[in-house]
Amino acid sequence: MPADYTSIGLKTFPNTSLRTKSIPFNDFEIVDHIYDNMLKIMYENGGIGLAANQVGLHVRLFVMDLSENKTQPELIINPEIIGFSDKKHTMDEGCLSLPGIWHKVSRPETVTIRYLDSTQKTHEREYAGLASSCIQHEIDHLDGILFPDRILPTKQAALWKKYLTSIKRK
Ligand SMILES: [Zn+2]
Repeated sequence: MPADYTSIGLKTFPNTSLRTKSIPFNDFEIVDHIYDNMLKIMYENGGIGLAANQVGLHVRLFVMDLSENKTQPELIINPEIIGFSDKKHTMDEGCLSLPGIWHKVSRPETVTIRYLDSTQKTHEREYAGLASSCIQHEIDHLDGILFPDRILPTKQAALWKKYLTSIKRK
């Protein structure tokens, strides 16, 4: 069992769950329970995306909702990136597991993914801009990668220091 599905809760760095590479999700009999709980945590914390590692589950899925009024949730299971643009898009990123820090991150402007929904139906879809960045950020989580890993190496140390100093003060 890759995860304890009864204790779903938001993990913040340096919780080791955030550096754990997740395995494919197969437990479809309890997918609704996971989806409901992860959405609740994402909305309560004001996030637009939340990956399973962030709640202590080492399986490949994430939730997101990019709508203004938070009415268009999506559950993306076992995503694979099957295409991306050479053109890059840069935006400020933050993370519910790294509260208090943000940084500009440059990623492909469009990304095409293949994934399953909660009924195990396969979808292929291209996303652009904010959605593209969000999806790449969440897929990184499934591989144990955090957004500071994606910025210029010369800027990473200062960002980590800022984060670690801020959590020590709490
Ligand atoms: Zn994140």
